[in-house]
Amino acid sequence: MEFRDLKKQYQIHKKEIDSAIQDVLLNANFIGGNRVEQLESELSKYTNVKHCVTCANGTDALQLALMAWNIGKGDAVFVPDFTFFSSGEVVPLLGATPVFVDIEEDTYNLSPASLEAAIQYVLERTNLKPKVVIAVDLFGQPADFNQIRLIADKYNLLILEDGAQGFGGKIGDKRACSFGDIATTSFFPAKPLGCYGDGGAIFTDNDEWADLLRSYCVHGKGTDKYDNVRIGMNSRLDTIQAAILLEKMKFFDKEIEMCNQVAEEYTRCLRGEARVPVVKVGMTSSWAQYTICFYNNKEREQAIKFLKRNDIPTAVYYRKPMHRQEAFKGSRVIELDYAVTEKICDCCLSLPMHPYLGMNSIREITDMILKKD
Ligand SMILES: *Cc1c(COP(=O)(O)O)cnc(C)c1O
Repeated sequence: MEFRDLKKQYQIHKKEIDSAIQDVLLNANFIGGNRVEQLESELSKYTNVKHCVTCANGTDALQLALMAWNIGKGDAVFVPDFTFFSSGEVVPLLGATPVFVDIEEDTYNLSPASLEAAIQYVLERTNLKPKVVIAVDLFGQPADFNQIRLIADKYNLLILEDGAQGFGGKIGDKRACSFGDIATTSFFPAKPLGCYGDGGAIFTDNDEWADLLRSYCVHGKGTDKYDNVRIGMNSRLDTIQAAILLEKMKFFDKEIEMCNQVAEEYTRCLRGEARVPVVKVGMTSSWAQYTICFYNNKEREQAIKFLKRNDIPTAVYYRKPMHRQEAFKGSRVIELDYAVTEKICDCCLSLPMHPYLGMNSIREITDMILKKD
């Protein structure tokens, strides 16, 4: 059994994907070009956001967004304590200070109440300037942007939506990557919309920021690549990856629907045995992960061992809260309350999740979990 079955997806769509790749090889145009432009326009239409700028990966996308806002020394950037390392990594990389914020127990996403407490702490006890909140669409469900927007407006913060896991999710009929002042996503193979290598994209309605992003991702270019007006990066999406993504977008919504059916069946079988993931009313998840939470650490560890013995792959996303990562020791991390994150890190477990996980496999997995002790 596969944790995320990318082979199956390729087998089903082999003909179209092979021919899209072949096309790029025959044209021998490997960087930029018409495929990349076409993808940006499709992604912009899909999310209903004015500008889409593709780049090399989801981490660069976050960094480029903070660069466009000129974030640096003395700035506080609020980041959920429970997320992939990248969401926080880019902050000290630019000299700013990450302030980690606890999450909501039911959705695993940033807690608006804890965000407000963290902002007040920074204002009252430090010399840092609160500038940005990086709200992550964790495991596929958009963060609570209605509440987060109210707080951001109250304290004059910009919202950077990290939609690396959330692409394809929705609040009402608005899609993920349309909620932040700038939003980013990743096309890493195992993400909801994955390519065959690294890739990323940045979204914004703001013309000025879009121009800056297009400059920063190509060596700070001015009128062209050899006219350099600022220090930037080399962060571009390969043409081959764009061609693959254009094909994959054709069946992306169908795959999300299939993931939702898988999630529904998991939840039906596991309710009562563990805490099952909650999708808030009005929200749609793209199910980057299906993550349950046991009632204590011992139960979780038992389940991992038992499932492994029976050849069922699982993963712990994430074992360590951000505020306890060694790498952040140098940049000052402010001591706030992280009780929910601590508990979730001890008890969470992500189960195999992909569109092609059949009912039989789901039953096999859930039966094992029910039998674990
Ligand atoms: C995967 C991921 C990223 C980084 O994306 P890459 O393309 O691997 O650089 C950032 N944030 C979150 C929440 C992610 O899951």
